[in-house]
Amino acid sequence: MKGLFTSVAMSAVLFTAPAMAQDAKAVIAKAQAAMGNPATLQYAGTGMNAFFGQALTAGQEWPRRPLESMTAAVNYDQKAATLGLVFKNPVFGGQRQNTFVNGDRAWNIGPNGPSPQLAAAEERQLQIWMTPHGFLRAAAASNATATSRTEGGAKVDVVSFIAMNKFKLTGTIDAAGMVTGVETQFPNPVMGDMAYAYKYSDYKDFGGVRFPAHIVQSGGGFAVNDFTVTGVQTTVTADLAVPPNIRSATAPAVQVATTKLADGVWLLAGGSHHSVVVDFDKYLAVVEAPQTEDRSLAVIAEARKLVPGKSIKYVISTHHHFDHSGGLRTYVAEGATVVTHISNEPYFEKTFAAPATIVPDAQSKAHKTPVFETVNDKRVISDGKRSVEVYNTIGDSHSNELSVVYIPAAKILIEADSYSPGTPASDPVPSDALVLYDNIQRLKLDVATVVGIHGRGAVPMAEFAAFAGKK
Ligand SMILES: [Zn+2]
Repeated sequence: MKGLFTSVAMSAVLFTAPAMAQDAKAVIAKAQAAMGNPATLQYAGTGMNAFFGQALTAGQEWPRRPLESMTAAVNYDQKAATLGLVFKNPVFGGQRQNTFVNGDRAWNIGPNGPSPQLAAAEERQLQIWMTPHGFLRAAAASNATATSRTEGGAKVDVVSFIAMNKFKLTGTIDAAGMVTGVETQFPNPVMGDMAYAYKYSDYKDFGGVRFPAHIVQSGGGFAVNDFTVTGVQTTVTADLAVPPNIRSATAPAVQVATTKLADGVWLLAGGSHHSVVVDFDKYLAVVEAPQTEDRSLAVIAEARKLVPGKSIKYVISTHHHFDHSGGLRTYVAEGATVVTHISNEPYFEKTFAAPATIVPDAQSKAHKTPVFETVNDKRVISDGKRSVEVYNTIGDSHSNELSVVYIPAAKILIEADSYSPGTPASDPVPSDALVLYDNIQRLKLDVATVVGIHGRGAVPMAEFAAFAGKK
């Protein structure tokens, strides 16, 4: 009896595993038969593109920008894709954004021709395999698994596989064989393992290929693209060859270029976003932790070189936008206290605790509980001799939670995104430059030097005043 039992159990195991794989293959084949399996796709339409990572208020949706037009192409054999957006007023009216990927090469094409965007290649490549037809192609070539569940009273098949040896993609396929959604997680310096998804609906027949007339892409829980597709071509081959200057491009190394601004105050530039290091009697403070962990590690290493033997007690953040806060988790892992606008605390509490398993960072290993010193109107960090004042601004249109940093002894004001020193004057004056100017007056700050987190670095107050049309 015992022997028989064992052989029954074993054969059940033997039959179950291949049956699952068989099932996935059948589900994928049925969907490909229903949707068509084009080698290339070109499609166009309209809709909106949102400013990812640039919420007006921390934790709210990404600001939406309406589009005049959207054009896209995918070449599955070439592992290449392009997306072209033309914005319309009220935001970026008339501006264009043309992005490309081919294998591990990514680039944008602007007025000056192709410019490399190598860091974007992985995400753009992943997007190819998250298109409805791309998902099925990649699933068919993978060790995909399939299950089913009920959604809104109807049975849907759920197909999963690992794409690019890294991303677990899960797609839902309805009874008609249409891919209705594909989701995964994508690494983000602020959010860790970030929800990343496409929803496909309103399928139509475009010359024998079924394609969704409505595409919603989301990142971090909010829509990034919302497209209405009006035309699809599957017969024209989209050749998206890599331009020569992109083929030879290499990723720029993280660079830190240091300038002393005053006694115990240094500007750490060298990239697109700068930081400022302030030396106190027993510790250091760093203003701004932009971009990524790599940037933070380079800035921290430079701070240690400038002032050996002191730990970084404070990191002061001007605002929560991803390009300005992507390096904060590194400082939390270092044990630094985060100084930020009071409204940001609940948001950062969540992002600092978020798991980062796809691309582990220092905080995903350290699991430090963040310590905050929030800014209500004003907060002063002082050792009795040197002090730094952090103020929340009023009226900025770029972020509802924007802080500026003032160093009274040096009469230095540090600001982000209101004014980039070096920017030519324009008429009318950018509204947020005026808002900054008004905040300096309101707070009665005696500013001699303005230090931009972007731009040329430190400039005399008179230069900013002239830019703001006040001289
Ligand atoms: Zn910003």
